[in-house]
Amino acid sequence: MSTKVLEIKDVTVSFDGFKAINNLNFSMDEGELRVIIGPNGAGKTTFLDVISGKTKPTEGVAYFKGQDLRKYKEHEISRLGIGRKFQTPRVYLNLTPRENLDLSCNRNKNVFSTLFKKAPSAEKRTVGGLLETIGLDHKADIPAALLSHGEKQWLEIGMLVAQSPDLLLVDEPVAGLTDEETEQTGKLLMSLAESHSIVVIEHDMEFVRQIARQVTVLHQGSVLFEGTMDQVQTDPKVIEVYLGKETGLTPEQMLLLRIAATMAWADDNFADVQQALILDRLSRKFAHAPEEQAELRSDLQNLLATEIPLEDLVPQLTTQAQREEALMLSYEVISSNQINQTEAIVYQKLLNLLSLPPETVSRLEAAALEELAARG
Ligand code: ADP
Ligand code: MG
Repeated sequence: MSTKVLEIKDVTVSFDGFKAINNLNFSMDEGELRVIIGPNGAGKTTFLDVISGKTKPTEGVAYFKGQDLRKYKEHEISRLGIGRKFQTPRVYLNLTPRENLDLSCNRNKNVFSTLFKKAPSAEKRTVGGLLETIGLDHKADIPAALLSHGEKQWLEIGMLVAQSPDLLLVDEPVAGLTDEETEQTGKLLMSLAESHSIVVIEHDMEFVRQIARQVTVLHQGSVLFEGTMDQVQTDPKVIEVYLGKETGLTPEQMLLLRIAATMAWADDNFADVQQALILDRLSRKFAHAPEEQAELRSDLQNLLATEIPLEDLVPQLTTQAQREEALMLSYEVISSNQINQTEAIVYQKLLNLLSLPPETVSRLEAAALEELAARG
């Protein structure tokens, strides 16, 4: 029988009546690397707070390897073998990485904690081995203050590992990192996953795709969906909730975007240039502030990068105005570069599904081309 490293049963966390976690059920096997995603405010950080003992459940129970965590204080839970990495690195800046790791390795462990541990791999526990694992062996003896943001994150991960936890909790490890650092972080977590159970909360979908095996989607304090990244990205519930909430789009706007994205993918050849152009156009159309546009661009890239059959989408358009807008946007998208045969076929299908009068179609197509020309 395999013990669950984590088992969360009917947990609710209320803040003055507001349920940040709402009757949440979750379980995870030992040795798993689990990624938790969900829109802002979904309850992800609170979820980690419950596991690390920072917050006690209002209702329900969280078990770590069968032990009821309600009985322990935060520092006791950490000694039980749950290590948590917060978003901002907490390293000693005036000490070197080696000294930081030395301190963590020597932090006192009581008998209580060692009782529950499997023998940690000797290699990983030595400071030298750890420096290598986190890729800082060549910077081992310079002050940590001189490390990049990413390197500080790795050092802090190393400091957690030095305390040989069984379960690592990691909140948004790649926020603010460069692409290269992000990829390195992914590799580090995957290598640590060989000997630890890990929960990672993350926003960056490309990163999630890099590391994720099993993904749990939180929404309004509960589990909305669980599955592989492919399943997550094609689940309509997830797309709806995720994109809708992050960007404040209405369901109608979202539907239009999904139709346009499906058109863009019609020929299975969503060239980078074309993609950039379309995403830029769509994000400008649906978001105003530059930050919102950037966010929407990446959401679209992440979540609409799958073809959803037009037959499923078009019938959801309820008004004539929406059908007209869908046509115009789609025509704009496919006309943004040379329309090829596949696109033409899919466009024809869209026209059939929309069943707008021919003169309306001509008028909208002309308007779409004008819009394109105006934007250059
Ligand atoms: P996430 O990490 O998914 O963005 P959080 O767990 O931080 O979400 O927050 C979930 C919800 O609970 C949010 O609406 C947040 O405002 C609320 N919340 C979190 N902590 C507290 C608190 N200490 N008091 C009141 N509300 C809180
Ligand atoms: Mg959070």
